[in-house]
Amino acid sequence: MVVEKKQRLLGALPGVDDVLGWEEISPWVAQHPRPLVVEAIRSAIDSLRQQILAARGEDDMVDPETLPNSIEGAIQEYLIQATSPRLRPVINATGVVLHTNLGRAVLAPAAREQVDRLGQGYCNLELDLETGERGSRYSHVEELLTRISGAQAALVVNNNAAAVLLALNTLAAGREVIVSRGQLVEIGGSFRIPEVMEWSGCRLVEVGATNKTHPGDYERALGPESALLLKVHTSNYSIIGFTATVAGAQLVELGRKHGLPVMEDLGSGILLDLTPYGLPAEPTVQESVRAGIDVITFSGDKLLGGPQAGIILGKEGYIRAMKENPLNRALRIDKITLGALEATLRLYLCPEDLVEQLPVLQMLTVSAKILERRALALAQRIKETVDAKLKVEMAQDYSQVGGGAMPLAQLPTYVVALQSPVLSVSSLAARLRRGNPAVLARVAAERVLLDVRTILEGEEGEICIALAQALGHGG
Ligand SMILES: *Cc1c(COP(=O)(O)O)cnc(C)c1O
Repeated sequence: MVVEKKQRLLGALPGVDDVLGWEEISPWVAQHPRPLVVEAIRSAIDSLRQQILAARGEDDMVDPETLPNSIEGAIQEYLIQATSPRLRPVINATGVVLHTNLGRAVLAPAAREQVDRLGQGYCNLELDLETGERGSRYSHVEELLTRISGAQAALVVNNNAAAVLLALNTLAAGREVIVSRGQLVEIGGSFRIPEVMEWSGCRLVEVGATNKTHPGDYERALGPESALLLKVHTSNYSIIGFTATVAGAQLVELGRKHGLPVMEDLGSGILLDLTPYGLPAEPTVQESVRAGIDVITFSGDKLLGGPQAGIILGKEGYIRAMKENPLNRALRIDKITLGALEATLRLYLCPEDLVEQLPVLQMLTVSAKILERRALALAQRIKETVDAKLKVEMAQDYSQVGGGAMPLAQLPTYVVALQSPVLSVSSLAARLRRGNPAVLARVAAERVLLDVRTILEGEEGEICIALAQALGHGG
């Protein structure tokens, strides 16, 4: 009986050419390349065939009446999937401000405008408009960087990992670099100091213990093969209890005494002290410059709040050597990133307006009162527009800085906590993640949490739509 029905259904399946002739299909044939539409049709028919074959009884048998509709639906779904960008915006409701998997810093409006403008046409990337001669791509941000930081010279590359690689390779290839055992950092995505050291062609010399390193430890490791003293900011972890590290200024003193340069990988690279806003003290770039560190590297898309980039500051001679290193050609920054970085750095020239203009700093410093108001408004809107069975509450919680910065900071925040009577916490979160737009939430023991700290203005309505969709099918 079932076998016969299956045979009949399989026989009723249209061929690709039949479907191509359907009137309902014609708008898609006009809109998309024909081979893509054919591929979509074939895939739709195939999946229905599989469905028919897989049916075990009357209950899961395909209804012949709806066969054409099912094929149309599957074709449309296929075309939407095939033609939508894979890299697309998502809504970050995790409360992690510098979420590495979600692209770290949200760009400032000024930076976004530059990206748009530079993408539209040609620019003076490597041309000196004054003289008409070949220029340097680095010149566009070098003066800004030296002015803001107080450093002598600057260079920007693809990211901070590249900055560390280039600096080590230029300053110490084939020789020894001395680092404290407490600073052999691993950053997510396989950036590890010992490995970067190897790739740069330097030999790592570890000194001190995990919790304590003293000036004498560095001094004893010095020898004819020594090329560099390296300090690494333990940006994503903290060693507490009985600890001792050697301050930048002390390392500089040691370096001077033995004629060696000192380099510091600052990681998050903050240019503005955020302690007045209640955030933990983080070593600023300016402090390292003042301490006399010869070469300083940090990221452009962490606490600085710009695009992915690696910034290298330092003494003129060292920076020049890095610019001339052939490796630099492989690590160089592109024009769009450079434009976004320049626009971001310009904001630092007006420190009074900075927090207002730079989304990362805005998110990190926003008051609890404002967060409470926003959570209240979001909860209200969800209650008004989404399935009444969903339990919607407001709660206090903590957000994180992310991006491997300020790992211990707990930023008090407000969240909208959701609980479905039907869906488990993990399946509601998964549906939100797979939705359009994708909404990334935090999952607590029993609830899905939407942290308003990282939800951007205007995204509340989209969240409601995404929620309604997530709960709609079988929710
Ligand atoms: C984040 C970080 C890096 C890597 O920076 P990217 O810009 O992600 O390449 C390197 N060192 C430290 C200490 C960091 O915190």
